[in-house]
Amino acid sequence: MLSKTINLKILAHAEVLVCGGGVAGVAAAVAAARNGADVMILEQNGCLGGMATAGMVPSFAPMSDGINILCGGIGEEIVREMCRRLGIKARFGTWENGWQGINPEILKCVFDDMLQEAGVQTLLNVKIADVMLGGGRIAGVIVATCEGLKLLTGRVFVDTTGDAVVAALAGAEIEIGGKDQLVMSPTLCVQYANVDHLRMEEEAKAGNTLWKIWFEHLQAGTTPFPEHHMVGLFHTGADSSLAGGNIGHIYGVNCLDEFELSRAYREGRRIARLYYDFFRQQVPGCEKAELLATASMLGIRESRRIVGEYCLDFNDYLKRASFADEIGRFYYPIDLHASEDDSEEQIASQRNLQSSIYKEGENYGIPYRCLIPKGLKNLLVAGRCLSADRRVLSSIRVMPGAMITGQAAGVAAALTREDVRDVDINDLRRRLRTLGAFLGSNDTAQTAINI
Ligand SMILES: Cc1cc2nc3c(=O)[nH]c(=O)nc-3n(C[C@H](O)[C@H](O)[C@H](O)COP(=O)(O)OP(=O)(O)OC[C@H]3O[C@@H](n4cnc5c(N)ncnc54)[C@H](O)[C@@H]3O)c2cc1C
Repeated sequence: MLSKTINLKILAHAEVLVCGGGVAGVAAAVAAARNGADVMILEQNGCLGGMATAGMVPSFAPMSDGINILCGGIGEEIVREMCRRLGIKARFGTWENGWQGINPEILKCVFDDMLQEAGVQTLLNVKIADVMLGGGRIAGVIVATCEGLKLLTGRVFVDTTGDAVVAALAGAEIEIGGKDQLVMSPTLCVQYANVDHLRMEEEAKAGNTLWKIWFEHLQAGTTPFPEHHMVGLFHTGADSSLAGGNIGHIYGVNCLDEFELSRAYREGRRIARLYYDFFRQQVPGCEKAELLATASMLGIRESRRIVGEYCLDFNDYLKRASFADEIGRFYYPIDLHASEDDSEEQIASQRNLQSSIYKEGENYGIPYRCLIPKGLKNLLVAGRCLSADRRVLSSIRVMPGAMITGQAAGVAAALTREDVRDVDINDLRRRLRTLGAFLGSNDTAQTAINI
């Protein structure tokens, strides 16, 4: 039998080690650094941003409730800076008008610069493969590098991997998806060039939207497949023919299985070609479009979520709940995509989404306890894998939500000495306010950050 003793080289140490460099991770790292911690962020890709860049998700979901900017602080800064570099005005609207298109290349550089300015050390191209534990604490994460496995040690860890990789490896209790662990279907996002946006807008004003064209063909049986989810092409708003596409579902994927993921990438690329052919043939403004790229990172909507000290649930969503340990508030509806190729399920999902949309100015609270996995002293979890039931997770998982929870996890990590539960909530909230976070209209200490 082959055996090998592994002597792990310590690659680096940081007071706060942020694991996963998506939008939640970037917000966490900047927030921790601005609160005095020595911070390192690690990421398996060659760029920061996760789904916002490598995943090519084409737009930031609505960042406000129509009255308040809910991702105030680092999230707002990120979006404003990307828009400033694009030469456009940032949109801080609601479900109807708040979708802000993303240029992934510009956003990658915004992240690089923000982290550098904050004094965060960035480590790219390292993949977390395991953790080292002792006394209910994480001592280090083991990363795969081109020289084999190495160890990164830290005082406090923030899991922003989207898949709760660190929490799961550390033995934290987790949940996956819904019935039979089925998860929302993933999508492989795309980028197009040569799209005539003006033409598409004119057609849309005349009622001839991409959706309408697709669904008319769907009813006539002339689409390449009978898909009821087809979100569409987004424009950054800058003077450019580029378009980002969040198009189609890949059904029945176990997003934690290597073989299943490999199948999903292949299937995503196949679906992308079929949509592309359809758009060129059927959609005015797309006649000369080019399929520039499919994403290098699969668009996973759902995998693991931690079981935390509090589970934010649908009842809290319905009540627009408030909490004493609230670290932010959010607005986005329940957006639970179908798991399987079942048009009834997809149609019902759309209906439920529409009926769950809040009115202007309404929002729900996010307690700090949702970021704390049970049983571990020095780990916080933010972004797509925090502690919520499936329905609320389908709301809070979008990028503004991930930035709100990432920012809070970063500040809390900077404040933690022994146990993340010992953080003084008043101090945490005071520091979040200083960063620009929105903590509710009734928060008397809140400085006005209306749109
Ligand atoms: C198809 C699709 C469309 C969407 N559309 C929208 C939209 O229009 N607007 C919106 O706001 N939101 C949208 N979302 C949701 C949103 O994009 C994500 O939920 C959100 O970006 C999650 O942010 P995150 O930082 O938690 O995770 P991620 O962006 O997934 O970041 C996690 C990071 O951790 C890294 N990582 C993971 N495992 C490891 C490891 N083992 N070692 C090292 N690094 C690791 C990953 O590479 C990644 O960079 C969409 C999601 C999908 C899938």
